[in-house]
Amino acid sequence: MVGASLAYMLSSTDLTIAIIESYPVESDEQPSFDARTTALSNGSRQILTALGLWDDLAAQATLIRSIHVSESGRFGRASISAEELALPAMGYVVANRAIGRELWRRLRLSPRVHLISPAQVSSLQTQPDCARLTMSHEGCDRVVQAKLVVAADGANSLIRSQAGVALNRHDYEQTAIVTSVSPGVFHAHVAYERFTAEGPLAVLPQADGRCVVILTVTPAVAKQVMNLPEKEFLALVQDRFGWRLGEFTGLGRRDAYALALTAAKQSTGPRLALIGSAAQGLHPIAGQGFNLGLRDAATLAEVLSDALSDQHSDLGVESVLNHYAQWRQADRRALISFTDGLVRLFKSALAPVRFGRTLGLLAFDVSLSAKSALAGLSRGFSTVQPRLARGLDLRGQPKS
Ligand SMILES: Cc1cc2nc3c(=O)[nH]c(=O)nc-3n(C[C@H](O)[C@H](O)[C@H](O)COP(=O)(O)OP(=O)(O)OC[C@H]3O[C@@H](n4cnc5c(N)ncnc54)[C@H](O)[C@@H]3O)c2cc1C
Repeated sequence: MVGASLAYMLSSTDLTIAIIESYPVESDEQPSFDARTTALSNGSRQILTALGLWDDLAAQATLIRSIHVSESGRFGRASISAEELALPAMGYVVANRAIGRELWRRLRLSPRVHLISPAQVSSLQTQPDCARLTMSHEGCDRVVQAKLVVAADGANSLIRSQAGVALNRHDYEQTAIVTSVSPGVFHAHVAYERFTAEGPLAVLPQADGRCVVILTVTPAVAKQVMNLPEKEFLALVQDRFGWRLGEFTGLGRRDAYALALTAAKQSTGPRLALIGSAAQGLHPIAGQGFNLGLRDAATLAEVLSDALSDQHSDLGVESVLNHYAQWRQADRRALISFTDGLVRLFKSALAPVRFGRTLGLLAFDVSLSAKSALAGLSRGFSTVQPRLARGLDLRGQPKS
């Protein structure tokens, strides 16, 4: 999702770009544009609008009017609405496949982008004046040479490890099971986040009136929960969520994801920039991974486009990459510690912590400044936003 987004952002420049992707985008096995949905922030919508993509995605997106946060067995709860914050929406839910289809369709039309897929990268070698990627494509080993390699190959990035970029990894010992249900009562565009002793549960509105469910369980029971008969699985979700949306029926397909924090210690290496989950893989508790990755892409696209305008003949040099790394530092750090802190806070069974978070939720419900701070999540934590996030094109012109 993030690599293709960057390629599309750069397709309007004079760069020649190759995307190397293991799976054909239409394949059911595609691990990025898969059966999940993504909650897009207002900031991401702004970027997609500036790219001219939003018009085509809007028809397939569901608006989130408010977010309701609660903890099972506790009194504390909080509700934040777009109206209170004077925003058009708290966010939008879009199917990953819809984003993938639209990006790929446009990339196929771009004369400067070469889609090499299905092709599996197997190694990276860096030389003083270029980087070489070896890949297996159509049964042969092939080498691509470039001034700059962008690793957008996910949380288990092979390119990151081949480049020797160190990683902070924390296994949350949680598995997210993603599925969909039909609620007995219309979702009214409310997104629910419910914290339970077994882990968080998110219920998000979907375009067809159904709801996306992200159920977190321990890895020890994940396989068993994945294989539960429909009725028992629905009863488990109902038990954790309660009856705010009436009775859940019509269970959709289930997919499981092991959850870990993977934070690269640097977001660059020699002739290398890391974006998206290759730079930082987050717990989906706050639905921020793709939103953060899209800001990585918008920032890198701007840095590269400016370097081109400044007549840089080599975009893989340290000065260009340092600019990108420094610009992304504050936003990356803030989001990594925010999501990690949230997971740890709601995982704790300690009585003072539980009491504190109940108070926190209650206080949050009445404090508009806390809500405004949360709204900041939607834009990111960089002091300067990249041009695309400000509704301009890469060169700083208003979008015509
Ligand atoms: C359950 C769940 C729910 C989520 N919900 C949200 C949400 O609501 N909002 C949000 O903002 N984020 C959400 N996220 C996070 C979001 O899914 C990720 O941030 C996003 O997928 C990262 O995209 P990416 O392109 O960086 O990496 P990936 O999606 O991991 O894509 C990596 C790509 O690289 C390819 N690849 C890997 N290795 C190679 C190789 N050696 N050669 C060639 N190709 C290779 C893969 O095939 C894949 O296409 C969620 C995550 C999970 C697990």
